[in-house]
Amino acid sequence: MLYRRMLSRAAYIGRWEFGRKRNEFSTKRDYVRQIMQREDEVAFMQCEELRIVDDELFFAVQSRLAELTKGPRGPKKDKQPQLFDLVTDLFWCAHCNVRFQQAGANGRGMRCKNGDLCPCQSIVRRDEATRAICEKLCALINQDAELIQSIICRVHERNSPGDEELQTAVAKLERRIATLSNRISDFYQMAGEGNDKDRKEVMRHVRSTQAERSSVQHELSQRQQQLTQSTATIQPEAVRESLAGFSELLKDAASGMLSEEAVYKAMAVIRRLVGGRVMIHVERRKGRKRKNARGVFTPQLIRAVADQADLTDRHEPAGEEVSVWLREPPRLDAIAERAHELIDIERLSHRDTAKRLQKEGHKVNSGNVWYSYHRWYEMNGQTPPSLPYNSRTTTVTGESRHSSALYFK
Ligand SMILES: [Zn+2]
Repeated sequence: MLYRRMLSRAAYIGRWEFGRKRNEFSTKRDYVRQIMQREDEVAFMQCEELRIVDDELFFAVQSRLAELTKGPRGPKKDKQPQLFDLVTDLFWCAHCNVRFQQAGANGRGMRCKNGDLCPCQSIVRRDEATRAICEKLCALINQDAELIQSIICRVHERNSPGDEELQTAVAKLERRIATLSNRISDFYQMAGEGNDKDRKEVMRHVRSTQAERSSVQHELSQRQQQLTQSTATIQPEAVRESLAGFSELLKDAASGMLSEEAVYKAMAVIRRLVGGRVMIHVERRKGRKRKNARGVFTPQLIRAVADQADLTDRHEPAGEEVSVWLREPPRLDAIAERAHELIDIERLSHRDTAKRLQKEGHKVNSGNVWYSYHRWYEMNGQTPPSLPYNSRTTTVTGESRHSSALYFK
């Protein structure tokens, strides 16, 4: 590339040209421009004495240069925005409490911003992680749609005592304004009497009373606005519709079937539903090359619906975390959550849990169940309760958690 101009100079074969460009002064631009001239306006002179390359070599070089010529390099084609590009900043390293950033082959992955300095370092595929989050959110919505609906409607009933206080305040302010208005008209009547000095005095009172009235009016309009906001109600159908919309969007997002417009919509919805952040827990497993990667976040399903309906919710229920595998975990880790549910919540024995899991399509024996169950406590940083192996459990000492109760206490 660097030598292209030199190698293609016709002067090398003794061919000199004159008048290829002509100077032209532009008054408008106030400078001289060089204008390319037509081929027949250019004068040529062949001077064999100045030739340094023979024709054969020169034209061989020209054809080689032509082969190497690349086409015009225009602007890159507009790439369809990818959802995982838009949500990478949601993922944070749980160990370092810093953001993940794009990394790995072709930038398809992401890892802790601290890179090799992070003891929990692992490159997580961005597309897989985003898909896992979408699928989880979708499942949560489908599982709890009715619960969410009843909570939102109940919350709005609960707002009414607050509304009464507001209504009292509004009535008080309205009375105050009426009093001040009466006082002002009294002053005006008085202004008709007395001398100039008295009149000035009265007008001073008028102005100060008017100032007070406008400040009370300002407060009144604020209170009235609060009242309309808090009494804004949401119909159960509207909640259902919102949730169905989210669910549909997330399903398309998980299967990668979003239109360009929907990609941005999905981005906004996911951001709200995960509460702005997904903490990534990377776990190194003894004797295994692949590390486990889980995403943990606190779903904000109720807030997301309320936001969409422009409701200001003052009673956001306390959320609980949910956990999502961001890459395929080892087989027995994958069923740990289910083993925990069956043993700690449904109170099944290890053997019955194994039977149930077999029915659900897992090839496990009760020894596997014991391992999975202990792994659940290990992964959640807790000590497993000492349960009698292979007998029906009667007491649960461990903290009991259930996926559908994960974010409503
Ligand atoms: Zn880290």
